[in-house]
Amino acid sequence: MTRGPIIAIDGPAGAGKSTVARHLAEHFGLLNLETGAMYRAFALKAILSDQDFDDAEALERLATGTAVTLKPARAGNRVLLDGADVTERIRDSDVTQGASRVSVHPAIRRWMVGLQQELGRAGGVVMEGRDIGTVVFPDADVKVFLDASPEVRGQRRYEQNAPAGADPTAISRELRERDERDRNRANSPLQPAPDAVSIDSTAMPLQAVLARIEDLVRARCPGLKATGTARE
Ligand code: C5P
Repeated sequence: MTRGPIIAIDGPAGAGKSTVARHLAEHFGLLNLETGAMYRAFALKAILSDQDFDDAEALERLATGTAVTLKPARAGNRVLLDGADVTERIRDSDVTQGASRVSVHPAIRRWMVGLQQELGRAGGVVMEGRDIGTVVFPDADVKVFLDASPEVRGQRRYEQNAPAGADPTAISRELRERDERDRNRANSPLQPAPDAVSIDSTAMPLQAVLARIEDLVRARCPGLKATGTARE
């Protein structure tokens, strides 16, 4: 069976992956799959079960009885944990930090990668994460590594989803801690695939980033037509 196109968008937190992935999916009529939400859902399970984020064996046991489901929807992905919708709760800061801690464990990554490969098997997807182009779909048609300076990423994170009264310095510190763990973990660290196109969006407006990636998609996936959805 020939599969539909797979577009992999990897990079650190706050680089603009979610916004870019959502626009691309709309523009080309593809499904947008946010893999970070799946690690977040499992981190929430660990929190609710009072489980230590560093105890690999206990987490592996916990995973055996856990169902994480990603449901692509027009207004963004919904995420179910054991059947309950946890889409909003997984954006809280305890879950954000937990996700980057549970995701260092190889057994948890194997489980998640298997689920993600199943979700994207037929293609026709924009998949966003840290290891899509390196591990989940090394044969993706388009691989983008989207980055920006830590200052700009911290600022974007603050503007996008900080609760009222949040401390921008604390948000930047959390982002740096998360980066550190994601880039230095032994298993599937955050790094560009050798054949990824790296884009530094520090000084680029969103429209310019999108135009660049759309060009890449058109060049690599000539059969894929824009749906005619206007960009904001
Ligand atoms: O993308 P998001 O910020 O929601 O991801 C939360 C955490 O999940 C990341 O900091 C990272 O540790 C982990 N993650 C991962 N691999 C992915 C997606 C997310 O390790 N493909």
